[in-house]
Amino acid sequence: MFKKLLDELKKLEQGIHIPISLPLDDEGYFDRHCPSEECEADFKVLFEDWRDKVSDERVFCPICRYEMTADSWNTPEQSEYIRAVAPNHLQGQINTALKEDARRFNRSQKPGFISLSLSVKPGRNQIVLPVGVADTMRQTFVCEVCGCRYASVGLAYFCPACGHNSVLVTFERTIDIVRQVMGKTSEMSLVLEEVIDKDTARDSVRNILEDSLCRLVGAFQYFAENLFNRQPGAASIKQRRNVFQNLAESSALWKTLTGKGYDDLLSRSEYSDLELLFQKRHLIVHRNGIIDQEYITKSGDNTHSIGQRLVISEGNVLRLADILSTLSVELRKLDPSGQ
Ligand SMILES: [Zn+2]
Ligand SMILES: [Zn+2]
Repeated sequence: MFKKLLDELKKLEQGIHIPISLPLDDEGYFDRHCPSEECEADFKVLFEDWRDKVSDERVFCPICRYEMTADSWNTPEQSEYIRAVAPNHLQGQINTALKEDARRFNRSQKPGFISLSLSVKPGRNQIVLPVGVADTMRQTFVCEVCGCRYASVGLAYFCPACGHNSVLVTFERTIDIVRQVMGKTSEMSLVLEEVIDKDTARDSVRNILEDSLCRLVGAFQYFAENLFNRQPGAASIKQRRNVFQNLAESSALWKTLTGKGYDDLLSRSEYSDLELLFQKRHLIVHRNGIIDQEYITKSGDNTHSIGQRLVISEGNVLRLADILSTLSVELRKLDPSGQ
């Protein structure tokens, strides 16, 4: 009597395919969410590339490089939607099968004294709210290795399809971010004054300026080290850890490798400002910004006396961003691969 239903149930044993469509944003990007509990970053991948370039076996988080199979990256909202849609789909199939069985049964009944008929009252479907789409994200990236296009809020470091970290893109974006932040420090200060107090606002802005200076040097160190080490012949040149935070030493390395040091790539005033700004960063990181004899000797900065605390200005940070940007362009010209 329940032939159709039994057929459908048999199909279930073998696993079924449930078509679920998830919406994309206006630019065709697909919302994704990092499954790592520490990260949980939201990002997007152009759907075309998610389909064609991302493998089923492994996907990387662009923020933390957590690695997982492709089915683990739904946003909580998408997961909820899928959980709700799947039973509805099954219920629909079962209802259709039952109705067909009932129809067949009713047709097979011969008229007589007692008449039997079957009717099917379908259970109520769970109401499924349409799944929303996160706003388009302004920071978009194209992987220089596999071409996968992805987007994030804030800086992303890794390609979701191949896990590649673009050192160059990261460096350029870091400079952009620092420049943008510098244009907003007075606004930030006003907001902080309002929500916290004047002292905290002043301290926070001071921290932002010092952090930005350190961040630029850190980004340059990482960029220069990577660029250097991919040059032919670099492996035979001995280098100590974090040597690219030290201008004189790393400039000497480049000179050994390519015949050109930083002083050949920058103007005299750029190079001397760069030296001074690297010294300032060194003092902040290692001496909490308190001026000592070593700083005065090395930097030639006579505007402060020993025991004073260094003041980092927006101008200092922007000048460092400009010089490092120029230097990175010049260093890339030395790279025979031209990247
Ligand atoms: Zn992550
Ligand atoms: Zn890639």
